Amino acid sequence: MEKFSFTHFRRQFPILENLVNEHSLVYFDNAATTQKPVCVIESHNNYYQQSNANVHRASHALSARATAAYESARKKVKKLLNANAEEEIIWTKGSTESINLVAQSWGRTSLQPGDEIVLSYSEHHANIVPWQIVAEQTGAKIKVLPLNKAGQIAIAQLEDFIGERTRIVCVGHISNVIGRINPIENIIRVAKKYQALTLIDGAQAIAHLKVDVSDLDCDFYVFSAHKMYGPTGIGVLYGKQELLEQMPPYQAGGEMIKTVSFEQTTFNQLPHKFEAGTPNIAGVIALGAALEFLEQQDYSGLVTYETALKKYCFRQLSSIPALEFIVDEEPDIPIFSFTLTGHHNHDIATALDSVGIAVRAGHHCTMPLMHYLNITGCIRLSLSAYNSMQEVDFVVQQLEKLTQTDAQSLSTSSVNEIAEANFPQADRLTVDNILSLFAKAKSWDSKHREIMMLGKKQLPLAAKDKTPLSLISGCESHAWLVANENTDGKFCFKADSDAKVIRGLLTIILAAVDNKTAAQIHAFDMNSYFSELGLLQHLSPSRGNGVRAIVQKIQQLVAD
Ligand code: PMP
Repeated sequence: MEKFSFTHFRRQFPILENLVNEHSLVYFDNAATTQKPVCVIESHNNYYQQSNANVHRASHALSARATAAYESARKKVKKLLNANAEEEIIWTKGSTESINLVAQSWGRTSLQPGDEIVLSYSEHHANIVPWQIVAEQTGAKIKVLPLNKAGQIAIAQLEDFIGERTRIVCVGHISNVIGRINPIENIIRVAKKYQALTLIDGAQAIAHLKVDVSDLDCDFYVFSAHKMYGPTGIGVLYGKQELLEQMPPYQAGGEMIKTVSFEQTTFNQLPHKFEAGTPNIAGVIALGAALEFLEQQDYSGLVTYETALKKYCFRQLSSIPALEFIVDEEPDIPIFSFTLTGHHNHDIATALDSVGIAVRAGHHCTMPLMHYLNITGCIRLSLSAYNSMQEVDFVVQQLEKLTQTDAQSLSTSSVNEIAEANFPQADRLTVDNILSLFAKAKSWDSKHREIMMLGKKQLPLAAKDKTPLSLISGCESHAWLVANENTDGKFCFKADSDAKVIRGLLTIILAAVDNKTAAQIHAFDMNSYFSELGLLQHLSPSRGNGVRAIVQKIQQLVAD
């Protein structure tokens, strides 16, 4: 096996060569999904070009070929997890579906009123909501394990939460926000003491740790292929065979049956009992390719590099004065979550995006954790072994620049001069003014600068106007909108947001609706306006949702 070479490893991921917003892509959103190596992409293509057929059923060569590749991936997952049998590996859509399967198949049939399901404060919504639903269906209760200062599940208090009534303990191996390895061995040991089952959410661990389910002796372990260089839409539920044998099917249809008559249906054996319908064959085969890819790497070299990268990133981020990590200690895997004093998370993420850096800002599907930590959200940088120290330097340099320079210093922006000279207040801006500003700003970088400057034109809303009634729901940052109807039937608006980028978008939107009648507002085509501004393709899903939420709020206010 060749020694780990960063350059060689990175070269396997063609997407990293792309320009994004006219800048080299710096992909630091690996906890959401990793990029895919060429061999995984090719395996997907090859399957459709050479072997596409349904598995298990047909009696022809292509089907035999597809089935062999499909089942060979199952063998690889069994080996990866050191499971006892292939019957213990169930294909699902991903971690989310794996957890739902256990909650509905095992939980719905086994839980009784008063039984307890134990989770932790750092769980992803995928490991909370399925349990809430089954608790509602069965009368079971949810108990929540607290975290220690380092962000890990607190061992000292395990027995305050796990006890005689506990039926299952479901915890993340590593939180997608905190990046620390949870003490799952201790948790499994305490659960066993009370004959409770254990489910480990390995979504974040699988790409970074060697997982041995036989050694751990957990009852269920789940993960998604797309977080370990594999394709989206495929995941794994590992379950102990004797448990899976006792559990009823989760979904019903073809493939999961042995015999069907209108009088009686018998079910297929494991693992097919849990795999109703035509599966994601290409996805399974491409996951097999991802596992082969990982097997071919010098694992210890890869871990050494990733650890050095993590340490370097932690040190560099720590040197930014305004940066506050959500937990103080260095994470175990390269996931860094923080806020920047005086800056909105979405402003930072949008500014980084304008120079090609992909990060996440928001609640990261962990709203209870945000609440527990007393924050509304955070910025998350998540790295992989294909990221470089230079990329870390670039991000740190951008973060330093953003925190040192207030939007004030973006005075090179043309909007400043034009706006100051011609229309000092936001309410004097027209659609034509905005269109002419953006016509000059060609790149996303410069469009972003214009948005930020336009945000400065939005006068702050008085505290009395920031009410639940004026709050715009559906916007990830806080934003408020107040409408007043004049005697001539025209509306004027006041708006504010704690994110500068949303203030800028508000200015752009209000230019189109201010001093207009309800009929004119309803008739205005916001989509074409944003498209003409050249913004439609640049709005990330969360920003796009923000714009939709603002427009909906305006329409609601003028309709009332
Ligand atoms: N658990 C954790 C810890 C995760 O990070 C994620 C994905 N962000 C999930 C569960 C859900 O995974 P998927 O969306 O692939 O089902």
